[in-house]
Amino acid sequence: MNKAFVREPDQETRVFCPQCGSVGTQVGAATLDRHVRPEFRMRLRQEAWYCGSGNCTTAYFNHLGVTVLISELQTTVFPHDPAASLCACFPFSFDQIMADADSRSPLQIRELYRLSQTPEARCSELAIDGQCCMKEIQRHYFRLLNPSPPM
Ligand SMILES: [Zn+2]
Repeated sequence: MNKAFVREPDQETRVFCPQCGSVGTQVGAATLDRHVRPEFRMRLRQEAWYCGSGNCTTAYFNHLGVTVLISELQTTVFPHDPAASLCACFPFSFDQIMADADSRSPLQIRELYRLSQTPEARCSELAIDGQCCMKEIQRHYFRLLNPSPPM
């Protein structure tokens, strides 16, 4: 395979949110088509990145610093909307993570993991960042179990 066409997730491909400086997650045109309201869609073309920072109002951005805001999306997004599902494929709320953390037994998360392995899981198509949500959900779970001291 020609090396030039292999996109490797190395330092050079990192792109940072122009608003908050977080590292973006690259998304494709299909993800943008699905989530950006039509009147704002043309601002970004085929290639964009998603800012996952909960403190930032930017949703997608590109190399040139062009942005689409969270408020310009078709959908609501956690944590900007605390009631929004964390999973794009199956409804899964932050309350469910808290319940699992309270009982110190991630039964609901395990069930979601099982679902995430089925053909009904279409993260790359449905998720706001094109990624499976399990990593993010586990991160929240472990953070609830082991809260870090405020900085
Ligand atoms: Zn940002």
